[in-house]
Amino acid sequence: MKKLSILGSTGSIGSNSLQVARYLKCPVVALATKSNIEELEKQIVEFKPQLVAVYDKKQAEVLKKRLRGQNLPEIVSGLEGVCAVGRFDKSEFVISAIAGTMGVVPTIAAIQAKKNIGLANKEVMVSAGEIIMGMAKESGSCIIPIDSEHSAIFQCLIGEDFRAVKRLIITASGGPFRGYTLQKLKKVSLQQALYHPTWKMGVKNTIDSSTLMNKALEVIEAKWLFDLSVDKIEVVIHPQSIVHSLVEFVDGSIKAQISLPDMRLPIQYAITYPERIPSLQTPYDFSIPSKLEFYPPDWERFGCLKIGFEALKMGGSMPCFINAANEVLVHRFAQGQISWLDIADRLEKLMKTHRIKKNITVESINKIDQLARRKALSV
Ligand code: MG
Repeated sequence: MKKLSILGSTGSIGSNSLQVARYLKCPVVALATKSNIEELEKQIVEFKPQLVAVYDKKQAEVLKKRLRGQNLPEIVSGLEGVCAVGRFDKSEFVISAIAGTMGVVPTIAAIQAKKNIGLANKEVMVSAGEIIMGMAKESGSCIIPIDSEHSAIFQCLIGEDFRAVKRLIITASGGPFRGYTLQKLKKVSLQQALYHPTWKMGVKNTIDSSTLMNKALEVIEAKWLFDLSVDKIEVVIHPQSIVHSLVEFVDGSIKAQISLPDMRLPIQYAITYPERIPSLQTPYDFSIPSKLEFYPPDWERFGCLKIGFEALKMGGSMPCFINAANEVLVHRFAQGQISWLDIADRLEKLMKTHRIKKNITVESINKIDQLARRKALSV
């Protein structure tokens, strides 16, 4: 079994990845987290990694003291430490699951070290998709999506000729506010936004799912992962989250990947690809009557979806800009500073202020990201 490194081991995808590692008996050789050393300590005791990174330098020191006298892994800190986990020479597969734009630099480090990557972090592709895909091509790294929709598309495309793809159809649950009137949307609370009907995820992703920004980011992610133009990507609301996405081919045939919502399946598939082996997945029970529904998205009430498509059409630095601005706006909503509807309203306003830069580099991404954050804090 492949030796794993996990970037973002204490988050939702990280802990699901460790469940898969435990089940597959994959050695876990390196772990990185932002600051949650309580959870990390448990992971160290169980998985005995050789290298551990804590982004927060103070917490890294606390962890060193707590583990003193035990069989210590090497403990590193800061962004450089997290990157060291990404490029650790003993690892054979890196799971990139740091939430948000923080994941970009460590993922690049892993690509430069020629690692194969299971990509769960969509912001990496949104803000730096063109650069990342170019680097991966150069280094020979294989990027396998872990985001459930993209894993579904990846699976549907196996054995197919890319030129025969007519369109990708990305499914969205519609989140907790599907069917809400504008009047009702004006009053939605953080608690309501944090309730997701079908998936259990981190705070950022759950709020993004309620605004459909999550889907907008996934459209941009799909564009880069599968190298298709934006007019070949569509979104459909599918409240049951059973059909994880679909691919239509030129002859009109549509392939879908179907399974009960459980992130451990796309994680395992990324690790074992191109093989399939038994998993922890609960089988779909056809003896119980069930229904799969599909609806067009409500573009007016869920402005973030429209913003995402527009940003992708504008190209250049715009996706990076809206991604960073959205992170700040989501944070401000979570802090009670702005309303749920404000997220899309302010994002749209900010978008109009951004002068698009073409030919972006890793350095310019950082600058655009910072600029968007500054603007989003005060808008
Ligand atoms: Mg997803």
